[in-house]
Amino acid sequence: MPSRAAVFLDRDGVINRLIYHQDAGIVDSPFTLSQFKVLPKVPRAIRLINDLGLRVVIVSNQPGIAKKHFRQNMLAEVEGKMLASLKPAGAKIDAIYYCLHHPHAEVKSLRKRCECRKPGIGMFTAAARDLDVSLTNSYMVGDGLTDIEAGARAGCTTILVGRWKCEQCQFIDPPELRPDFCAEDLWEAANVIKRDFAQRSVGGLCNMSA
Ligand SMILES: [Mg+2]
Ligand SMILES: [Zn+2]
Repeated sequence: MPSRAAVFLDRDGVINRLIYHQDAGIVDSPFTLSQFKVLPKVPRAIRLINDLGLRVVIVSNQPGIAKKHFRQNMLAEVEGKMLASLKPAGAKIDAIYYCLHHPHAEVKSLRKRCECRKPGIGMFTAAARDLDVSLTNSYMVGDGLTDIEAGARAGCTTILVGRWKCEQCQFIDPPELRPDFCAEDLWEAANVIKRDFAQRSVGGLCNMSA
C-alpha cells in the first residue's frame, strides 16, 4: 500500500495568472511566454508543501496546441520560466502531467475524447502509479469546477481557489463533488493543507498507540 501523498495542482489560475485575450474576448491560459507570470506567494506556498513532505504534482489541461493557440515548444519554455521563478524560494515540483487533447481540436492527432482531460482522472492515476502515492491521502487544488470534480472523483481532498468561485459550488451536482475547502489563493490553500495534514498525523499517532 502506498502511503506517500501528493498535492495535485492545476496550473493556470493557481500557479500563474489567467490572461484576458482581447482579440478573442476570452479569459484563458497564457499563449506566449511573456504572458506567463507566476502569481505572488506561489513559490512560498509550494515550498511549504515541499516541507510537509508531500509530493507536488501539476495536472493541467493544455489544449492550446490542439487549438493552434501556441506551438509545441511553448509548454517546455513555460516550464523553464516557472521552475526558475520557484527556485529562489527553494520550491520544487516533483512531476508535471499535461492533457494535450481536445474533443474539437483543430490538430487532428490531438482530437480525442480521452481519459486524461479533467474532469477525467487519467493524470491522477498515472501520477499515483509513477510516484507511488495514495490518491485518498492526497489533495487537489484548482480554480475550476472541473479540477474539483476530477480531484473528488480521484478520491482526493479538494480545495477550490479564487476570490468568488465558491459561489459556484452550489451548482456542482452531485453535491459529493463539491470542494472540501475554499481558499483565496495557493498560499492560503497550502496553509489549509498544513492544518488538515497535521490533524491526520495526530490521528495516525493515536491509532498507533491504541
Ligand atoms: Mg485553472
Ligand atoms: Zn487527454
